[in-house]
Amino acid sequence: MSGATPASLRVAVVGGGPAGSFFALYALKYAALAGRDLAITLYEGKDFRQFGQAGCNMCAGIIPASVLSQFGGLGLTVPPELILSRISTYSLHTSAGSLDATQPDPRAEIVSVYRGAGPRYGHPPGLVSFDELLLEQAVARGARLRRGFVQAVRRGPMVEVESGGESERYDLVVLASGVNGHSLCLGGFAYRPPPAGAMCQTELYLGQDEVQRRLGGSVHIFLPPDCIATYGILIPKGPFVTVSLLRARSQMRSLRQFLALEEVRAVLGAQARPACGCLPSISVGLATSIADEGFVAVGDASATRLYKNGIGSALATAQRAAWTAVYRGCTRDDFETHYLPLCRGIDRDNRIGRLLFLEVPALKRFGVMPRAHYRLATSAQHHQGASELHARILWGMFTGAYSYRDLLRMATSPALLSRLALAFGSSLLRPKECLPSGRC
Ligand SMILES: Cc1cc2nc3c(=O)[nH]c(=O)nc-3n(C[C@H](O)[C@H](O)[C@H](O)COP(=O)(O)OP(=O)(O)OC[C@H]3O[C@@H](n4cnc5c(N)ncnc54)[C@H](O)[C@@H]3O)c2cc1C
Repeated sequence: MSGATPASLRVAVVGGGPAGSFFALYALKYAALAGRDLAITLYEGKDFRQFGQAGCNMCAGIIPASVLSQFGGLGLTVPPELILSRISTYSLHTSAGSLDATQPDPRAEIVSVYRGAGPRYGHPPGLVSFDELLLEQAVARGARLRRGFVQAVRRGPMVEVESGGESERYDLVVLASGVNGHSLCLGGFAYRPPPAGAMCQTELYLGQDEVQRRLGGSVHIFLPPDCIATYGILIPKGPFVTVSLLRARSQMRSLRQFLALEEVRAVLGAQARPACGCLPSISVGLATSIADEGFVAVGDASATRLYKNGIGSALATAQRAAWTAVYRGCTRDDFETHYLPLCRGIDRDNRIGRLLFLEVPALKRFGVMPRAHYRLATSAQHHQGASELHARILWGMFTGAYSYRDLLRMATSPALLSRLALAFGSSLLRPKECLPSGRC
């Protein structure tokens, strides 16, 4: 029944995080434009108005302004209290010194937000929850909210959704349950969630002035020993600093060891007090059988960009899936033709991203690597083009500003490669020569 779009459509969205709410907001907008009758039910088990993990989707909360700018197209306004810090610099701390990348373009602004109502302890009043803001807006525009987790989704002539002992039937079920959700039985569907990696995250309270003095608008990235984590990040967020560790070896112990590192203490000081903590998973691949008859997965449950701008991917996948459902239809063919190419494109780009991230272990293991990068970065005055490109790549690796394909193209530009080769040569031939950072 490809292309058959009946006048009325009943849709269940499992999960009211960004992907679920964006799906509802876009589907309601498109249905109004197309003059179609659409009934959407959002199932969400968490209450984003609660403090701590109970009300939070466990994320570092960095959002590019390009994502917030799309709120306008949905008729949403961004309340100023939502934005806790504006990020202007990313600093990568290496054994040779710190490599700084400043925002290359005013339109590439990055902000930090809380996904839930705020950390468990020491939360100031008046914080706005990003997830609650979206969910409230979806409900204000006509989505029905059912509080509670979904236990099962079953295939049949219509798709059946079971929650809190009650079942309802729908034309389409949209799986927007992320990778940290409650386990759910998917009867009759071949869907498998994407592979996920382990993260460790905590919120530290320093107070607004101290965060401003110590971090300002900078995100700090560290490359700790592998026995602690692959990398660790400090993000300023109003009076708090969010600490995220990727692939922490032993979770809370790794966090203690990370916070005890000299270079981390030099940024944070000794006054930081833990205010919250969680051990979430992060999606690192493509889910299997994302689309089926009357079924589609969006957001983390389908495909997301590797280690960056997951909320931007939630928006992009939700928008395309909603467009397909309203304008094309809800069969497997409809989603395969109009939606899956987007997910496959994200996955292809992530493969390039994985290649680029191979540099992280090399930066840790071979001292010549950070020395060469440091030389190149600090040669700005003499070789501005190459060092600007270098800073742009660093900015792009940790934000959603560019695709990994674009980053690879920038990283392999002849101008940059020749400068890097020279920097490598100098670092190999004169390894003992002190770098401007004062380190050898
Ligand atoms: C440590 C960490 C840091 C991150 N930092 C960033 C960052 O700085 N910036 C960024 O853009 N992205 C970041 N991400 C990625 C980002 O969190 C995700 O890409 C984004 O949350 C995906 O949105 P989603 O709606 O698909 O899933 P989620 O945000 O996980 O939302 C899923 C929702 O579904 C609900 N749910 C699950 N199962 C059920 C069920 N059975 N019934 C009913 N409801 C259910 C959950 O309660 C949840 O509200 C980070 C991820 C991690 C783990």
